[in-house]
Order: sequence, then structure tokens, then C-alpha cells
Amino acid sequence: MLSTRVLDGRRISREIQEELRPRIDALRAKSRAPALAVVLVGSDPASQIYVRNKVKACQELGIRSLDVSRPASITNQELLALIQSFNIDPEVDGILVQAPLPKHVDAEKVVLAVDPSKDADGFHPFNVGMLVANRRGPRPCTPAGIIEMLMRYNIPIAGRRAVVVGRSDIVGKPMALMLMHENATVTVCHSRTRDLAGECRRAELLVVAMGKPAAITADYIKPGAVVVDVGMNRIAEEAEVKRLFSHEPSRIASFAKNGSALVGDVEPLAMQNLAGAYTPVPGGVGPLTIAMLMANTVALAEQHLRC
Ligand code: NDP
Repeated sequence: MLSTRVLDGRRISREIQEELRPRIDALRAKSRAPALAVVLVGSDPASQIYVRNKVKACQELGIRSLDVSRPASITNQELLALIQSFNIDPEVDGILVQAPLPKHVDAEKVVLAVDPSKDADGFHPFNVGMLVANRRGPRPCTPAGIIEMLMRYNIPIAGRRAVVVGRSDIVGKPMALMLMHENATVTVCHSRTRDLAGECRRAELLVVAMGKPAAITADYIKPGAVVVDVGMNRIAEEAEVKRLFSHEPSRIASFAKNGSALVGDVEPLAMQNLAGAYTPVPGGVGPLTIAMLMANTVALAEQHLRC
């Protein structure tokens, strides 16, 4: 068996957030604390947890959070008006609208409604353009966190064969661009890729963001590769949990208590046995996303307050 390095997203997340503290203190000393508006529409339990964690991270760092909940019945017009109220509020630096939105809401219009200079998620097409051009601007938090983690672990990216599975606007596409800007040779795979296992097996750096529990098995992993598992899937089938976590009795015990288990897109045992380094689920990519949201908010506040 190869010796494997676990990439500890919680530790890196703490490190990133600790480094933000003096910048936040400087902003407070000069003018005021950075402020993030977090908008939650409806009552999706997973979204409620994500929002709670983001607000908690703000509180711990001394970032002011404006935590606004609206019912799923909100109209497009009402939501756009709410976003506009934050756009024109000089005390607000960042705006985040938690996805997913109810079906009747025009998500595209919502992304466009956020002022690009307050776009804490980096999803506005203006900022997507800045990413494509490799110019300064808020970056989507999940891929930005992954790059930050690879750098802090001194994992080389330049010249590496990188494969990204998934091409979503929030993870796969920006991840591929960021890896390319770091001089990796990047292949992007998706549901129409002909030989996914073959493409993945060529990867020295494999980033998987498919949203398919444990879909990437041993056949997809080049021995010694760095594997970043972005997937966060909740599964409730007992037999599947027992199969996937046969080597981790604590996970099976936790399933027995909670009735569900969190699993990534990569089969845990395959990753542990084959990868040279990998991100666990949970405790890998998830915490980095929050840290980068805090970093984006602080950077936006510095621009607004000209620090
Ligand atoms: P999307 O559903 O938006 O995108 C999934 C991508 O995977 C699509 O591009 C799709 O291809 C591709 N795909 C799906 N099935 C296959 C397949 N069988 N073979 C190859 N490609 C496939 O998901 P997201 O990018 O939003 O999220 C991906 C995962 O990451 C989810 O589990 C999500 O929960 C998690 N996530 C975790 C975060 C964190 O902080 N840890 C943050 C954000 C997401 P196509 O385009 O052809 O449909």
C-alpha cells in the first residue's frame, strides 16, 4: 500500500481565517467591520445548515452578517428589490444568495442583480469574465479554496496533468480555469465524456465534482494521484453505508444514530488505498469553501473602504 497524505481542510480553513483577523481589525480601526448579507429563500434543511455555518463563521471573525430569510413564495420582483437594497447600502460589502432557489425564481436574474463589486460568491458574469482573463476579482469559493489548499500543502500544480470531473458554473468550470492559470494541463469531463475512467486514470491531480455518491472507484484513480473530492451526498441505504465504510466502524455507528451518512463522489476506500494525497468527506473541501467566502468578503470590504 502507498503512503497516503490526508489533506485536512479544517486545518487549512482555520489557518486562512486566522490570517484574516488582522485585516478585519485594520478595517474596524479605520472605519467599520466588513459586512456580508446572506439571503436564504425557503426552508430547505441543507441550505439552512449552510447559511447557519456561514453566519457562525462571520460571527467568530467579527464580520457583521445580515442574515435575511424569506419564504419560498417570494416573487422575483421582491427578491430583486431585496438584493438592490443591499447593492445601494454603503454598509454592506458582500451579498450572497443561497442556492438552490425555488423553481419559480429566475436564478439567472438573481445572479445578475448582485452588484459585481459586492459579489461574495464570484458568480456574476462580470467576475466570471475577470476569472477567464485571470484578472483580480472575487472567485467562486469552492475552487478558490481548493487551489489555496494545494498551495499550502506545497502540492505542485504547474505542468501537472489535471482532470476535473464536472463542469458546473460554481465548481467544475472555475476549477478548470484556476488550474489552467496555475499552469496545469487541464481536461474537463462531464456526463457525455466517453471514457471517464480512462480520462481520470491519466490524472496526476483529480478533482471530482459530480454529485454522484462514490461514483469514482479504484479503476478511475492513478496510483499516487492527488484526489480532491468535492462531492457532498447524503445517503440513507444501510447496505451501501456498510459497504462503503466497512473499514470505518465509527461511520457505521454514526449512520445507525442519524439514519444517513455523508459521502463524497469518490469511493472512500479506493481513495485511501490508491491516492498519494486526498481530501476526506467530511473535513476536506467543505470547510475551505466557508474560509474563502470570508476571504472574499474581507477583500471586498478592503476595496470599498480603500484599505
Ligand atoms: P452539478 O450537478 O451542477 O454538476 C455536476 C457535474 O457533474 C455536471 O457537469 C455533470 O455533467 C457532471 N456529471 C454528472 N454525472 C456524471 C457522470 N456520470 N459522468 C461524468 N460527469 C458527470 O453539481 P455541482 O458542481 O454544483 O456540485 C457537485 C458536487 O459537489 C455535489 O455533490 C455538491 O453537493 C458538491 N459541492 C460541494 C461543495 C463544498 O463546499 N464541499 C460546494 C459545492 C458543491 P453535465 O454537465 O454533462 O450534466
